[in-house]
Amino acid sequence: MENHHKTTDFTDALRDGIPVHIDEVENGIKCNCICPSCKQPLIAYNNPKNKKAHHFQHQSLSDCRNYYETMIHYWAKEIINELGELTVPKHTFELGNSPRDYTYHKWNEDYPKEKITPVKIVFDKIFIEKHQNGIKPDLIGVVNNRQIHVEIAVTHFIDDIKANKIKSLNVTSLEIDLSDIDRTLQKEELKRVLRYGNISRMKWFNNKAINQKKTESGQRKSTVREFIFANMTEKKVYGKAQDVYKCPLFKTEYDITLHNCERCQYFVSTNETYEGTQEQYDNRETIYPKLSIHCIGHVASKFDALLTENGVTIGENRAFKGGLSPR
Ligand SMILES: [Zn+2]
Repeated sequence: MENHHKTTDFTDALRDGIPVHIDEVENGIKCNCICPSCKQPLIAYNNPKNKKAHHFQHQSLSDCRNYYETMIHYWAKEIINELGELTVPKHTFELGNSPRDYTYHKWNEDYPKEKITPVKIVFDKIFIEKHQNGIKPDLIGVVNNRQIHVEIAVTHFIDDIKANKIKSLNVTSLEIDLSDIDRTLQKEELKRVLRYGNISRMKWFNNKAINQKKTESGQRKSTVREFIFANMTEKKVYGKAQDVYKCPLFKTEYDITLHNCERCQYFVSTNETYEGTQEQYDNRETIYPKLSIHCIGHVASKFDALLTENGVTIGENRAFKGGLSPR
Protein backbone atom coordinates (compact mmCIF):
# COMPACT_ATOMS: atom_id res chain seq x y z
CA MET A 1 0.00 0.00 0.00
CA GLU A 2 1.56 3.21 -1.13
CA ASN A 3 -0.09 6.18 0.49
CA HIS A 4 0.09 5.48 4.19
CA HIS A 5 2.59 8.17 4.99
CA LYS A 6 0.66 11.05 3.51
CA THR A 7 -1.54 12.43 6.22
CA THR A 8 -4.10 13.85 3.81
CA ASP A 9 -4.62 10.45 2.17
CA PHE A 10 -6.00 7.71 4.35
CA THR A 11 -8.30 4.73 4.19
CA ASP A 12 -10.09 4.78 7.55
CA ALA A 13 -12.38 7.31 9.17
CA LEU A 14 -15.22 7.66 11.65
CA ARG A 15 -18.90 7.38 10.87
CA ASP A 16 -21.22 7.94 13.82
CA GLY A 17 -18.21 7.53 16.07
CA ILE A 18 -17.31 4.11 14.66
CA PRO A 19 -14.21 3.39 12.56
CA VAL A 20 -15.08 2.55 8.95
CA HIS A 21 -12.98 1.62 5.93
CA ILE A 22 -13.08 3.59 2.67
CA ASP A 23 -14.66 0.64 0.82
CA GLU A 24 -17.58 0.47 3.25
CA VAL A 25 -18.87 3.99 2.66
CA GLU A 26 -20.68 5.92 -0.07
CA ASN A 27 -18.70 7.95 -2.54
CA GLY A 28 -17.89 11.62 -1.99
CA ILE A 29 -19.37 13.84 0.70
CA LYS A 30 -22.24 11.36 1.12
CA CYS A 31 -19.88 9.10 3.00
CA ASN A 32 -20.92 11.07 6.06
CA CYS A 33 -17.52 10.56 7.65
CA ILE A 34 -15.36 12.75 9.80
CA CYS A 35 -11.64 12.75 10.54
CA PRO A 36 -10.98 10.97 13.85
CA SER A 37 -8.46 13.62 14.79
CA CYS A 38 -9.77 17.07 13.79
CA LYS A 39 -13.41 15.91 13.43
CA GLN A 40 -13.74 17.80 10.14
CA PRO A 41 -15.89 16.35 7.32
CA LEU A 42 -14.23 14.10 4.78
CA ILE A 43 -14.71 13.23 1.15
CA ALA A 44 -14.49 9.57 0.13
CA TYR A 45 -12.68 8.83 -3.12
CA ASN A 46 -13.81 5.28 -3.73
CA ASN A 47 -15.37 5.26 -7.17
CA PRO A 48 -14.55 1.84 -8.64
CA LYS A 49 -13.49 3.61 -11.86
CA ASN A 50 -10.78 5.53 -10.01
CA LYS A 51 -7.32 4.41 -10.93
CA LYS A 52 -5.86 5.86 -7.76
CA ALA A 53 -6.11 3.86 -4.53
CA HIS A 54 -9.29 4.59 -2.63
CA HIS A 55 -8.84 7.15 0.11
CA PHE A 56 -10.40 9.87 2.22
CA GLN A 57 -9.51 13.50 2.03
CA HIS A 58 -10.35 16.40 4.29
CA GLN A 59 -12.95 18.65 2.66
CA SER A 60 -10.82 21.58 3.72
CA LEU A 61 -7.70 19.83 2.35
CA SER A 62 -6.08 20.60 5.69
CA ASP A 63 -2.99 18.70 6.66
CA CYS A 64 -4.14 16.85 9.70
CA ARG A 65 -1.24 15.86 11.88
CA ASN A 66 -2.58 13.40 14.44
CA TYR A 67 -4.69 11.32 12.12
CA TYR A 68 -2.83 8.03 12.61
CA GLU A 69 -2.39 8.44 16.36
CA THR A 70 -6.11 9.06 16.75
CA MET A 71 -7.01 6.22 14.40
CA ILE A 72 -4.78 3.78 16.28
CA HIS A 73 -6.53 4.84 19.47
CA TYR A 74 -9.98 4.21 17.97
CA TRP A 75 -8.92 0.90 16.48
CA ALA A 76 -7.41 -0.32 19.74
CA LYS A 77 -10.71 0.31 21.54
CA GLU A 78 -12.66 -1.37 18.78
CA ILE A 79 -10.32 -4.37 18.61
CA ILE A 80 -10.43 -5.04 22.35
CA ASN A 81 -14.19 -4.68 22.28
CA GLU A 82 -14.41 -7.16 19.39
CA LEU A 83 -11.99 -9.64 20.94
CA GLY A 84 -13.74 -9.46 24.29
CA GLU A 85 -10.52 -10.56 25.96
CA LEU A 86 -7.08 -9.33 26.79
CA THR A 87 -3.87 -11.01 27.89
CA VAL A 88 -2.56 -8.95 30.77
CA PRO A 89 0.34 -9.10 33.22
CA LYS A 90 -0.22 -11.25 36.29
CA HIS A 91 1.88 -10.36 39.30
CA THR A 92 2.84 -12.91 41.93
CA PHE A 93 4.98 -12.43 45.00
CA GLU A 94 7.30 -15.21 46.11
CA LEU A 95 9.08 -15.64 49.40
CA GLY A 96 12.38 -17.44 49.87
CA ASN A 97 12.82 -20.84 51.51
CA SER A 98 15.90 -20.10 53.56
CA PRO A 99 16.07 -18.15 56.85
CA ARG A 100 18.60 -15.85 55.23
CA ASP A 101 15.88 -14.64 52.87
CA TYR A 102 14.11 -13.28 55.93
CA THR A 103 16.85 -12.07 58.23
CA TYR A 104 19.93 -10.71 56.51
CA HIS A 105 19.10 -7.25 55.40
CA LYS A 106 21.01 -7.35 52.12
CA TRP A 107 19.47 -10.62 51.02
CA ASN A 108 15.95 -10.25 52.22
CA GLU A 109 15.36 -6.93 50.44
CA ASP A 110 14.80 -9.01 47.32
CA TYR A 111 11.80 -10.70 48.90
CA PRO A 112 8.92 -10.98 48.25
CA LYS A 113 10.13 -11.44 44.67
CA GLU A 114 7.70 -10.04 42.17
CA LYS A 115 7.10 -12.22 39.12
CA ILE A 116 5.14 -11.12 36.07
CA THR A 117 3.53 -13.64 33.74
CA PRO A 118 0.81 -13.32 31.10
CA VAL A 119 -2.78 -14.26 31.94
CA LYS A 120 -5.81 -14.10 29.68
CA ILE A 121 -8.87 -12.27 30.90
CA VAL A 122 -12.17 -12.91 29.14
CA PHE A 123 -14.51 -10.02 29.81
CA ASP A 124 -18.18 -10.57 30.61
CA LYS A 125 -18.92 -7.10 29.32
CA ILE A 126 -17.07 -4.13 27.88
CA PHE A 127 -18.08 -0.47 27.99
CA ILE A 128 -16.45 2.09 25.73
CA GLU A 129 -15.77 5.56 27.11
CA LYS A 130 -18.23 5.31 29.92
CA HIS A 131 -18.07 7.90 32.69
CA GLN A 132 -17.51 6.44 36.10
CA ASN A 133 -17.02 8.49 39.26
CA GLY A 134 -15.58 11.35 37.25
CA ILE A 135 -13.18 9.15 35.29
CA LYS A 136 -13.74 8.32 31.63
CA PRO A 137 -11.43 5.45 30.73
CA ASP A 138 -11.11 4.30 27.11
CA LEU A 139 -12.72 1.01 28.06
CA ILE A 140 -14.19 -0.62 31.13
CA GLY A 141 -13.98 -4.41 31.09
CA VAL A 142 -16.11 -6.33 33.56
CA VAL A 143 -15.05 -9.74 34.89
CA ASN A 144 -16.97 -11.45 37.72
CA ASN A 145 -18.54 -8.10 38.62
CA ARG A 146 -15.08 -6.56 38.97
CA GLN A 147 -14.25 -3.63 36.77
CA ILE A 148 -10.98 -3.10 34.97
CA HIS A 149 -10.36 0.27 33.42
CA VAL A 150 -8.29 0.08 30.24
CA GLU A 151 -6.41 3.15 29.04
CA ILE A 152 -4.80 3.15 25.62
CA ALA A 153 -1.84 5.49 25.40
CA VAL A 154 -0.80 6.56 21.92
CA THR A 155 0.03 10.20 22.52
CA HIS A 156 -1.57 10.77 25.92
CA PHE A 157 -0.65 8.80 28.99
CA ILE A 158 -2.60 8.87 32.24
CA ASP A 159 -2.13 12.40 33.56
CA ASP A 160 -1.79 13.55 37.17
CA ILE A 161 -5.46 14.43 37.58
CA LYS A 162 -6.62 11.03 36.35
CA ALA A 163 -3.86 9.30 38.32
CA ASN A 164 -5.04 10.93 41.55
CA LYS A 165 -8.65 9.94 40.89
CA ILE A 166 -7.66 6.36 40.07
CA LYS A 167 -5.65 6.10 43.26
CA SER A 168 -8.14 7.81 45.55
CA LEU A 169 -11.00 5.66 44.25
CA ASN A 170 -8.70 2.60 44.21
CA VAL A 171 -9.86 1.70 40.72
CA THR A 172 -8.11 -1.16 38.93
CA SER A 173 -6.58 0.42 35.86
CA LEU A 174 -4.45 -0.98 33.05
CA GLU A 175 -2.46 1.24 30.71
CA ILE A 176 -1.50 -0.10 27.27
CA ASP A 177 1.41 1.74 25.75
CA LEU A 178 1.09 2.02 21.97
CA SER A 179 3.21 5.17 21.74
CA ASP A 180 5.95 3.49 19.71
CA ILE A 181 3.57 1.76 17.31
CA ASP A 182 4.40 2.30 13.65
CA ARG A 183 2.14 5.12 12.47
CA THR A 184 1.37 3.35 9.20
CA LEU A 185 0.13 0.22 10.96
CA GLN A 186 -3.20 -1.09 9.73
CA LYS A 187 -6.02 -2.42 11.85
CA GLU A 188 -5.28 -6.10 11.23
CA GLU A 189 -1.68 -5.67 12.33
CA LEU A 190 -2.76 -3.80 15.44
CA LYS A 191 -5.13 -6.65 16.17
CA ARG A 192 -2.18 -9.03 16.23
CA VAL A 193 -0.30 -6.73 18.62
CA LEU A 194 -3.25 -6.62 21.00
CA ARG A 195 -4.33 -10.23 20.70
CA TYR A 196 -1.07 -11.98 21.45
CA GLY A 197 -0.63 -10.53 24.86
CA ASN A 198 2.09 -7.99 24.53
CA ILE A 199 2.37 -7.63 28.27
CA SER A 200 5.55 -5.62 27.94
CA ARG A 201 3.32 -2.84 26.62
CA MET A 202 1.05 -3.07 29.62
CA LYS A 203 1.29 -1.65 33.08
CA TRP A 204 -1.17 -1.84 35.94
CA PHE A 205 -1.57 1.73 36.96
CA ASN A 206 -3.42 0.51 40.00
CA ASN A 207 -4.66 -2.97 40.76
CA LYS A 208 -6.60 -3.78 43.91
CA ALA A 209 -5.86 -7.52 43.75
CA ILE A 210 -2.12 -7.00 43.23
CA ASN A 211 -1.94 -4.42 46.02
CA GLN A 212 -3.64 -6.90 48.32
CA LYS A 213 -1.38 -9.80 47.30
CA LYS A 214 1.67 -7.64 47.91
CA THR A 215 0.48 -6.65 51.38
CA GLU A 216 -0.34 -10.24 52.28
CA SER A 217 3.04 -11.40 51.07
CA GLY A 218 4.73 -8.79 53.26
CA GLN A 219 2.71 -10.02 56.24
CA ARG A 220 3.74 -13.62 55.53
CA LYS A 221 7.33 -12.56 55.44
CA SER A 222 6.97 -10.94 58.87
CA THR A 223 5.35 -14.07 60.27
CA VAL A 224 8.23 -16.26 59.09
CA ARG A 225 10.80 -13.75 60.27
CA GLU A 226 9.24 -13.65 63.74
CA PHE A 227 9.35 -17.45 63.89
CA ILE A 228 13.04 -17.45 63.03
CA PHE A 229 13.97 -14.86 65.65
CA ALA A 230 11.83 -16.53 68.30
CA ASN A 231 13.30 -20.00 67.68
CA MET A 232 16.91 -19.65 66.57
CA THR A 233 19.62 -20.91 68.90
CA GLU A 234 23.22 -19.83 69.15
CA LYS A 235 26.06 -22.36 68.85
CA LYS A 236 29.70 -21.59 69.41
CA VAL A 237 32.25 -22.16 66.67
CA TYR A 238 35.41 -23.78 68.07
CA GLY A 239 39.05 -23.59 67.10
CA LYS A 240 40.98 -23.17 63.90
CA ALA A 241 38.92 -25.85 62.13
CA GLN A 242 35.79 -23.87 63.04
CA ASP A 243 33.93 -26.87 64.41
CA VAL A 244 30.31 -26.63 65.40
CA TYR A 245 29.09 -29.28 67.81
CA LYS A 246 25.68 -30.76 68.48
CA CYS A 247 24.08 -30.32 65.11
CA PRO A 248 20.40 -31.18 65.64
CA LEU A 249 20.07 -32.61 62.13
CA PHE A 250 23.15 -34.69 61.47
CA LYS A 251 25.21 -37.05 63.57
CA THR A 252 28.22 -37.70 61.40
CA GLU A 253 31.55 -39.40 61.80
CA TYR A 254 33.08 -36.13 60.72
CA ASP A 255 33.02 -32.90 62.60
CA ILE A 256 30.58 -30.38 61.32
CA THR A 257 32.24 -27.08 60.55
CA LEU A 258 31.09 -23.53 60.02
CA HIS A 259 31.62 -24.16 56.31
CA ASN A 260 29.05 -26.99 56.42
CA CYS A 261 26.60 -24.93 58.45
CA GLU A 262 26.67 -22.07 55.99
CA ARG A 263 25.45 -24.48 53.32
CA CYS A 264 22.50 -25.70 55.33
CA GLN A 265 18.98 -24.40 54.68
CA TYR A 266 18.37 -24.01 58.41
CA PHE A 267 21.38 -21.82 58.99
CA VAL A 268 20.49 -18.27 60.00
CA SER A 269 23.68 -16.28 60.47
CA THR A 270 27.34 -16.15 61.52
CA ASN A 271 28.08 -13.79 64.37
CA GLU A 272 31.45 -12.30 65.22
CA THR A 273 32.37 -10.65 68.50
CA TYR A 274 35.68 -8.97 69.10
CA GLU A 275 36.75 -9.06 72.71
CA GLY A 276 40.21 -7.55 72.79
CA THR A 277 41.61 -5.74 75.84
CA GLN A 278 42.61 -2.10 75.70
CA GLU A 279 46.24 -3.19 75.94
CA GLN A 280 45.88 -5.49 72.93
CA TYR A 281 44.32 -2.69 70.93
CA ASP A 282 47.06 -0.28 71.97
CA ASN A 283 49.73 -2.77 70.91
CA ARG A 284 47.91 -3.30 67.62
CA GLU A 285 47.74 -7.00 68.23
CA THR A 286 45.62 -8.99 65.85
CA ILE A 287 42.47 -9.99 67.68
CA TYR A 288 40.57 -12.91 66.26
CA PRO A 289 36.80 -12.67 66.58
CA LYS A 290 34.80 -15.12 68.65
CA LEU A 291 32.49 -16.87 66.27
CA SER A 292 29.09 -18.34 66.74
CA ILE A 293 26.21 -19.29 64.49
CA HIS A 294 22.48 -18.99 64.69
CA CYS A 295 20.53 -22.01 63.57
CA ILE A 296 16.94 -23.27 63.48
CA GLY A 297 17.85 -26.90 62.72
CA HIS A 298 16.10 -28.10 65.92
CA VAL A 299 12.77 -26.74 64.57
CA ALA A 300 13.44 -27.73 60.94
CA SER A 301 10.17 -29.53 60.33
CA LYS A 302 8.17 -26.76 62.01
CA PHE A 303 9.95 -24.21 59.84
CA ASP A 304 9.20 -26.20 56.68
CA ALA A 305 5.57 -26.52 57.71
CA LEU A 306 5.34 -22.79 58.32
CA LEU A 307 6.80 -22.06 54.89
CA THR A 308 4.42 -24.47 53.19
CA GLU A 309 1.51 -22.93 55.09
CA ASN A 310 2.60 -19.57 53.71
CA GLY A 311 2.72 -20.71 50.14
CA VAL A 312 6.47 -21.19 49.84
CA THR A 313 7.73 -24.09 47.75
CA ILE A 314 10.48 -25.96 49.58
CA GLY A 315 12.96 -28.32 48.02
CA GLU A 316 14.34 -31.59 49.36
CA ASN A 317 17.58 -32.32 51.24
CA ARG A 318 17.51 -28.95 52.83
CA ALA A 319 20.09 -29.76 55.46
CA PHE A 320 23.73 -29.61 54.37
CA LYS A 321 23.01 -28.69 50.84
CA GLY A 322 26.15 -29.71 49.02
CA GLY A 323 27.89 -30.49 52.28
CA LEU A 324 28.21 -33.65 54.34
CA SER A 325 26.22 -36.80 53.85
CA PRO A 326 24.58 -38.45 56.83
CA ARG A 327 26.31 -41.46 58.30
ZN1 LIG B 1 -8.26 15.70 10.45
